[in-house]
Amino acid sequence: MSLESALRADIVEVGRRMYARGYTASNDGNISVRLGAERLLMTPKSVCKGFMSPDMMCITDLLGRKLEGDRDPSSEMLMHLEVYRQRPDVQAVVHAHPPTATGFAVAGIPLDRAVLAEVLTTLGSIPIAEYATPSTQELPDAVRKYIKAHDGMLLANHGALTVGSDVFAAYYKMETVEHFAKISLVARMLGRENLIAREELLRLQELRDTYGIKAPAPICSTEPASDEVCQVIQAPEGGGQRLVPDSPVAPGRLRLPLPSGGEDGEIRLTYRELSALIEDAVKSLK
Ligand SMILES: [Zn+2]
Repeated sequence: MSLESALRADIVEVGRRMYARGYTASNDGNISVRLGAERLLMTPKSVCKGFMSPDMMCITDLLGRKLEGDRDPSSEMLMHLEVYRQRPDVQAVVHAHPPTATGFAVAGIPLDRAVLAEVLTTLGSIPIAEYATPSTQELPDAVRKYIKAHDGMLLANHGALTVGSDVFAAYYKMETVEHFAKISLVARMLGRENLIAREELLRLQELRDTYGIKAPAPICSTEPASDEVCQVIQAPEGGGQRLVPDSPVAPGRLRLPLPSGGEDGEIRLTYRELSALIEDAVKSLK
């Protein structure tokens, strides 16, 4: 099988997985890969990524001019072209709308907290590129700000973008972004998100080097200057600190005056008092 045939098959497979996992609906999302130094192979516009065949793909040059293919290239092609322009090391780009990560993108909450060691050693932080009208020049402009330092980012009120050394590497980063978003959501619903201390974070960064994990940029030690290429990650200085407070239903809020028998003593509440107490607890959860 030629390299081009293999890449066409890889794109079909990644599209199938994205659709099967619910990362795209209908004709959403797009995938591209470098085909040699001067050309790109990418998904066409207006097809469901779950049901593509290898012959559907388009070949364009690095300016997005179509060279081969019956169909026109993806409507988000400009964003892909910008990534390849800014990152010579990137071989493939994946864009999708995975629901939990996109929920964070809609809420305007970046996935940039030091929470999971695996995410910190691979993607690092996942920022949010500002909102831009899809398929216009605004989108590549928004992506440009973060792509030099990040392999994955959220797109405000839109979706997520990941890049990699091949099409599967880019796709697996999309899986990591969505998985991380789900875990972050559960932790926040539980009301507690213990962060990894900065000291440990820097230790994890050293592991990247030890295991040869390629990161596009180091973690910023302080607030970065505007031209500094590094990843901003929220991690508390020193051990045991948290940036995120405990659940609003902190034990203190619901504590009752101790009865005469101390903590083991019996208390009696009327039905009305108990209802009021439960109501108060439910309100403080909202
Ligand atoms: Zn999109």
